[in-house]
Amino acid sequence: DASFPNQIVNDENRYLSEQSILEGAPPLSVNWQLFEDSTLLAQQGMKAMAATLIFALYQSEQIDTLAHLIHDLRRHRGNSLKIVVREMSASLRYSDERLLLACGANLIVPHIAPLSSFLTMLEGIQGHSLSRHIPADIDALISGLRPLQMKGYLPLEDFSKAVISLMENTLLPEDGKGVMVALRPVPGLSARQSITLCHQRRFGDVMTVAQNRLFLFLSTCRINDLDTALKFIFRLPVSEAFSNWVVWHQDVDITIQIKRLAQNIELTQSAIKHVKTAAKKTAVVFEEEQTEERRQPIPFTLLSREPKE
Ligand code: C2E
Ligand code: C2E
Repeated sequence: DASFPNQIVNDENRYLSEQSILEGAPPLSVNWQLFEDSTLLAQQGMKAMAATLIFALYQSEQIDTLAHLIHDLRRHRGNSLKIVVREMSASLRYSDERLLLACGANLIVPHIAPLSSFLTMLEGIQGHSLSRHIPADIDALISGLRPLQMKGYLPLEDFSKAVISLMENTLLPEDGKGVMVALRPVPGLSARQSITLCHQRRFGDVMTVAQNRLFLFLSTCRINDLDTALKFIFRLPVSEAFSNWVVWHQDVDITIQIKRLAQNIELTQSAIKHVKTAAKKTAVVFEEEQTEERRQPIPFTLLSREPKE
């Protein structure tokens, strides 16, 4: 085509890749072309039609740049291009993967996948064409997918507003926004006191106190990662400071519960999963909260001092 002198036609079987993703191995065949960095790769990618482009990701600081490169390539070169990111060391959050996919990546390969599995995954996407819509405005995408710019304790009203605004964000997938947990402290410890045990470090992780429970919202945390997250967040093992906890991870349940809190309605039994650590502390078990549970007076003894002589 005279108007596109540099255009590579019928490049379906070609692999354009950052050198490092092959871990020192030479190009695997004549169809492979290796580039020193992501900029050079993206430049060549701008001439590709249906080739496979593979980017390497080493650290979270690269995510924004990579998101822009991928978005540009996808918007300019269309749906037949196969764009892959190989994570080279543990650095991607679920929310980062989501952003890269939203920008037009076909596949993100986790760092735990060995080279051989990675190559099989590449085979798996051959012949694919992206059918997802990729929004034109990347800045709106990045800011819409960014976590709340707040962390730690918030008064109930602010907590509720923040979580509800997240639930209403249509850029985020349904039921994938995070997990809410209500922890009831052990007798003798008030929910307010328990705040000091909780160290939220990630933007988007917020907490409040209501109904003598500590409520946490952990952004983009997945339900199966809850134990891991709680271990990072609490200094003490959770089961030492809290007698039980309730977890919600679906949008509708989180929203209902936040509204109930606003009306000061106690946690209800229906639809609520009551989570406790199992006796062995290795697993969590789900059980229904007791319908007839009533607050019982808790006996305690005042510290007695020896009367002074
Ligand atoms: P990981 O540290 O083993 O955490 C696994 C998952 O637990 C995370 O997956 C997340 O779902 C949840 N999680 C752990 N800590 C927190 C927390 O403080 N707040 C919330 N909201 N969730 C938490 P995710 O996000 O996909 O991250 C995957 C892996 O990426 C993490 O595995 C870790 O190896 C790495 N990573 C992510 N962010 C950071 C970070 O800020 N610092 C470090 N050192 N590693 C990070
Ligand atoms: P941040 O999001 O405010 O997280 C602050 C600190 O919380 C992290 O410091 C880390 O000590 C801890 N943390 C949060 N989430 C996790 C997790 O999933 N696993 C583990 N092991 N620790 C977690 P760190 O690692 O020095 O990171 C500083 C900042 O760098 C983070 O602030 C975040 O803005 C950025 N960052 C680090 N790793 C990642 C990542 O994998 N993805 C993203 N999007 N940002 C990251």
